[in-house]
Amino acid sequence: MNTDKLSARLATVAKYVPKGARLADIGSDHAYLPCFLAKNEGIPFAIAGEVAVGPCQSAERNVLAEGLADTISVRMGDGLEVIQQGEVDCITIAGMGGALIASILDNGKEKLTTVKRLVLQPNISAISIRKWFIENNWELIDEEILEEDGKIYEILIGERGDPYKPYNTNLDMGLLVGPFLVQKQDKTFKRKWTAEMKNWQRIYEALEGATQSLETLEKKREIIDKIKLVEEALKHEDS
Ligand code: SAM
Repeated sequence: MNTDKLSARLATVAKYVPKGARLADIGSDHAYLPCFLAKNEGIPFAIAGEVAVGPCQSAERNVLAEGLADTISVRMGDGLEVIQQGEVDCITIAGMGGALIASILDNGKEKLTTVKRLVLQPNISAISIRKWFIENNWELIDEEILEEDGKIYEILIGERGDPYKPYNTNLDMGLLVGPFLVQKQDKTFKRKWTAEMKNWQRIYEALEGATQSLETLEKKREIIDKIKLVEEALKHEDS
């Protein structure tokens, strides 16, 4: 991977960064995404934010090697603290868990006042981001799902608006699997949720063999509820 050709995962994130955006890529690591956007999409300004020393140095090396130091500012810090108020209008956060992405947004809410678009790629728990959007008046405007190197990734795009707008059917089901993804019924979507269901069924069977404490019963109930939501989601194509 380099800054001219992104992975399919990062290329999908890049696709949703508006032309001319002033970007902050948080958890940028190698800074491939802002470098690609500066070189190929002409974004005028980007911050590559990193909390860890090694990835921050890697970002600095790549930005210098590409001659992009005037466009991309590499900054070390936790989450959105690397952004000055009003500096950016788009934020990308990719390659972390959904709960961590949601907590980064939550801890830096005051930095979001001028941000118009969030492009987020959680490795797990996209539901944490959908819930954060609802609680913070961000509207999910699109979603993508893709498979690369045997892993399935979801990309969530948010703008300020009506947080309930995409959820015209079952809210719990939409939060779990994604209101746009359930409509699209991509083959990767079906593969992901069929595999998740099989996994939950295995856990359920293991719980059946365990002592039936209140905790076990609650876990079984949770699994049944999730399986019902996913069954409904996978049947959606018939409706
Ligand atoms: N965004 C790149 C991508 O998608 O290919 C790199 C993903 S890498 C797996 C996650 C990066 O996020 C790591 O380099 C890690 O140091 C950084 N990170 C984790 N928590 C962070 C935080 N609170 N603030 C900034 N960076 C963070």
